[in-house]
Parts: sequence; C-alpha cells; structure tokens
Amino acid sequence: MSSTIPSGTKSATTGIVDEEVRLRIAEQLGERFQGDVIGPDHAKYSQARTVWNAMVDKRPGLILRCTSTEDVVAAVDVARANGLRPSVRCGGHSVWGAAVSDGGLTIDLSGLREVTVDTGRKLVHAGGGCLLGDVDAATAPHGLIVPAGIMSETGVAGLALGGGIGWFSRKHGLTCDQFVSLEVVLASGEVVEASATEHPELFWALRGGGGNFGVVTRFTFKASPFGPMMCIGVSLYEPQDAAQALREYASLVPTLPRTVGWHAALKHDMPALPFVPPELVGKRLLMLVAMWLDDAEDPAGTELVERLVAVGQPAVKAVTVMPFAARVQKLLDEEFEDGHRYYTKEAHVAELADEAIDTLVAFWKDMPMEGEVEIIGLGGAIGDVAEDATAFSNRDYLLWLNFAMRWDDPANDSDYFDRTRKIVGDLKPWVGKGIYVNMLNFDEMDRVVEAFGGPEKYARLGRLKARYDPENFFRMNNNITPLP
Ligand SMILES: Cc1cc2nc3c(=O)[nH]c(=O)nc-3n(C[C@H](O)[C@H](O)[C@H](O)COP(=O)(O)OP(=O)(O)OC[C@H]3O[C@@H](n4cnc5c(N)ncnc54)[C@H](O)[C@@H]3O)c2cc1C
Repeated sequence: MSSTIPSGTKSATTGIVDEEVRLRIAEQLGERFQGDVIGPDHAKYSQARTVWNAMVDKRPGLILRCTSTEDVVAAVDVARANGLRPSVRCGGHSVWGAAVSDGGLTIDLSGLREVTVDTGRKLVHAGGGCLLGDVDAATAPHGLIVPAGIMSETGVAGLALGGGIGWFSRKHGLTCDQFVSLEVVLASGEVVEASATEHPELFWALRGGGGNFGVVTRFTFKASPFGPMMCIGVSLYEPQDAAQALREYASLVPTLPRTVGWHAALKHDMPALPFVPPELVGKRLLMLVAMWLDDAEDPAGTELVERLVAVGQPAVKAVTVMPFAARVQKLLDEEFEDGHRYYTKEAHVAELADEAIDTLVAFWKDMPMEGEVEIIGLGGAIGDVAEDATAFSNRDYLLWLNFAMRWDDPANDSDYFDRTRKIVGDLKPWVGKGIYVNMLNFDEMDRVVEAFGGPEKYARLGRLKARYDPENFFRMNNNITPLP
C-alpha cells in the first residue's frame, strides 16, 4: 500500500492559495518584495516544493522565496492580509515536512544564507535560511565552530530553534545554548531583536520552542575555538561481534571526558566512506565513531581515540586527522541525501542494558529497511544549563537513540512503519521520558506537550505564544497552542 505523510495542519486551517489569491498577493507585494514569487507554473516550483523526505508530497499554492528581512516582513504581511497561515522553510529537513504548506503559502528563506564572522568577539551572524554547511565553511578558516548537527545539509534555523544536538554538544552544549541574539519577524510584521536583555522571555522561548514565535531572519551565535582539523577514530564490526562491542561502549561512555564524543551506528549497508575497505562496502556493519573535540594534535586525544577504536573485535579500525568542516561534517550527507522515503523515531536512552542491546542488535540483523540505527553520545555540557533556563527539555540523557530508516518503494511504507514502531515499543523498558521536539514525526503529534518538557513548561510557552502570536499564525510546526 503506498502512502504519503498526511499534510498535518491542512489547508482548510492554513488557507488555500488559488489563482485569484496569487494575483492579489503579487499585486499587494508590488515593489516591496525583491525575492522570487513562485507559483505552480514557475520554473523553480518543482525544486522549491521538494524537501528531504520523498514521502512529503505537498503542492503549495505559492512560495515566496525571500532575500532579506524586508522580504520576510512583506511575506508575513500579505499572508496576514489574506487570512493565510504560512509554513516557513529553511533547510527542509523537518521529518514530516513542516516546511511546506499543502495548497497554501510557504515562506522560503533560502535567499537568506549570508554568514559573517566577527573573529575579535567570536560571534557569528547567520541568515535565517542558512544550512549548517554554510556556517561551518565560514567559521573553519578562523579556527572557530558553532556547535550544531551531524551533517552539513540540515537547516540552521529548524535545528537551532528546536535545540540542536550534534558532534560538539558534549563539549559546548546545544546550538540554542550558543544564541547571543536573534532578529525575529513576528506575526504582526514587527521586527524585534531577542536576547538575554531584549525580549528575554521570547529569547527563552526561542531556545527550544521551534518556529512557533516568528520567523528568525538572523542568528547571532557565540563561536568556540576549534580546528579546522579533527582527530577521529572509526571501528567497524561484523554482526556477530556487534553486541559485545556495544556492551563495552555502554560501560565506557559514562567514564569519558567531555572532550570526546563517541557514537554508534548500526548500518544496513556500509557506504564507501574513506576508511572502509572495498570488501566491506555494502555490508551490514556496526560503526563506532570517536571524535576528539579539542586540539587534533593533542597526544591525549589520539591516545584516547585509539583506545576507543580498539574495543571488542573490530573488523577494521582507523584513527586519522581530517578537516572537520570540509570532510567530517559531510560524511553522512550522501547516505541521507534528499529524495528517498524516510521514517525516523527518536528515544532518550535511560539505560543501555545488555537486554536492550540484544533487542536492538536482533532487530538490526534482520531489518530490511536501509539507513541506520544511531546511538548518539551526548551528556556533558548539555546538562550544564538548568532545565528551566530554556524552552529545551530533558537535558540530562547520556545517550539518544535514533532510527533513521530509508527506502524507495512506497509499497513498503506500512510494513516498515510497523517494524520501526514495534522495535521502539520493544525498547520501552530502557527508554526515558521526553522526546526531541525536532524529531517528532507525523504520528507523534500527541507527544508535543511531552517534547516541550511537560504541562508546566508547555503552559509557559503557551502564554508566550499568546503574547507573541495570539492567533497561532505560525502553526505549521510542532505547535504550541496560545494559552490565554
Ligand atoms: C537528515 C537529517 C539530519 C538531522 N540531523 C540533526 C542533528 O544532527 N541534530 C539535530 O538536532 N537535529 C537533526 N535533525 C533534525 C532537525 O533538527 C529538524 O528536522 C529541523 O527541524 C530541521 O531544520 P530545517 O531548517 O532543515 O527544517 P525545515 O523543514 O525547513 O523547518 C523545520 C521547522 O522549523 C521552522 N523554521 C524553519 N526556518 C525557520 C526560521 N528561520 N524561523 C522560524 N522558524 C523556522 C519551520 O517552520 C518548521 O516548522 C536532522 C534531520 C534530518 C532529516
């Protein structure tokens, strides 16, 4: 049975854009709008409506591709004037396609990708449409990083506004922990700057509250010294050796300093990554990756990474130094490229017990879906920030589990959904409370309150939503309902 992801918030509540509305909007925008006005007949329409997950097959009535804050204000104004509730697009990596409005209006930020680096003050200004790779490319030449995700093509805005976990989280915390200030276009069209001193409550909400409060047109991040080179170690395991390696992984992870990140991926088929011998390409393998998050030349880092790649019975192990921005951050891009059918599930690991490992490995050995099951080693600096200091929640987990399942034939959809749901259910005894808001899928909308930290925090967010977006104009997201 083929299927596409349900549209979520349907056009009935976001407003249909037909030919008449398109013409009216074009007229209202007039000279105010410098970006592209992309209707279904436009040459860029097909590319502009397509997102990462091929299961998302939405056809916006109109896409306004903005190039500046003024364009975004104009787009918000025309949406409001025409009773529309727009979707907002940055990198298009929302797993259920929140970036695209089916039949309605999409505000596309891909014309706002400028990054400037203030090396003296170690600040990075990034446009609201940047991808992670844009920021990495700008910061690397200065020996700086803004901690973000695990690949280069995810949008900065969606990732950072929902929290932002990645390779550097253990050392520096979440991406939203690096916010210094944000330029935001509110539902009213007003442009405000949110920081610890200006609109501090809005600033609190933007650190984890997602796209609920307005369109962020510019981020100012604190940057940290790093690189540009990284010491990285990889070990690969045949299926019969995977459980033992994961047992050693689970027992060592809690003892590690925050200058190292150690992660696991149970891969359906090993891609041709630089350290993989040709005979192992395409094989079902466990990969452990250790990253030294400090000076790549530090012998203490090399020594620790060498120790970690030696656990268990690796079929292959390698330790190398490579540029972070240009290589490490792009290693996963091809494996998770746009255009396949993807289904993901995230869970916070309370305990990676032996039985949990056996359950996971048994699932992986038979799993017909391509893609991988990831165990991401977090903890460290993420937990330095108090739970109530930001909208982001559940900071104290050491390990996060992510099922990133991929296939191409729509006929497999329901079977593969069921298999993934079942394994997540089977692992429940070892899963803790909460779910990452950025990984909420279309069938998890009943967990939005949990993702935002539970009823009390959700209510605080709801009151702020009522202040900054009382009519729930920004609703094409993991939505916070305005609370009077
Ligand atoms: C392949 C892949 C890898 C991922 N890796 C990581 C990772 O390493 N770490 C991690 O934390 N998460 C990761 N994620 C999850 C990711 O953080 C979320 O999917 C996030 O929403 C993606 O942001 P985006 O800008 O690409 O998405 P989009 O689909 O463009 O937008 C997502 C949401 O953000 C809103 N939004 C977008 N831009 C703005 C803006 N400028 N202002 C206000 N709201 C806006 C949108 O309205 C939408 O609701 C990954 C997802 C995928 C698919």
